[in-house]
Amino acid sequence: MTRRKDWDTYFMDIAYMASTRSQCGRRHVGAVLVQGKKLLGTAYNGAPSGVPDCSEAGCMLVEEYELVDTASGEQVIKKQRCIRTIHAEQNLLLFTDREDREGSSVYVTDQPCWTCANMLANSGIVEIVYHRAYPKDSEKVSALMAQKGLTFRRMAEYEPPSGTLAEVKN
Ligand SMILES: [Zn+2]
Ligand SMILES: [Zn+2]
Repeated sequence: MTRRKDWDTYFMDIAYMASTRSQCGRRHVGAVLVQGKKLLGTAYNGAPSGVPDCSEAGCMLVEEYELVDTASGEQVIKKQRCIRTIHAEQNLLLFTDREDREGSSVYVTDQPCWTCANMLANSGIVEIVYHRAYPKDSEKVSALMAQKGLTFRRMAEYEPPSGTLAEVKN
């Protein structure tokens, strides 16, 4: 007999299942809204419905410069990012009601970027649970969560269900 899944694992598994719907070759992100133990919504990163997505039209890449700390001091690194998709967390907000979100939790496969975190902080949710770290915005996002008094936690020991991880470019 297999051990029964705990709720954290259960909802993060569903977030990973949602992420498999993503068509972006650079990032597959899934997010779910949970009130108590009730699933109220699922979302993934994608182009607006009815518009060609990344698999059809290719990723819409922008180049950005990022300041990173390295052993030899701060360095400016050039990075590419796909902006064709609406982020999973933002789609989740578009597809759910404010009333449902009050006091609820979001499970998301990846640590939210600054914009998503900022929107989630104003959405009524009280908890964000994530799996994969996203160092770029980590500091300011953590500071915001603390300021808002939101629970912000990482499931560091978690392992996604087999078959849900996509081969993506970084
Ligand atoms: Zn893309
Ligand atoms: Zn985001």
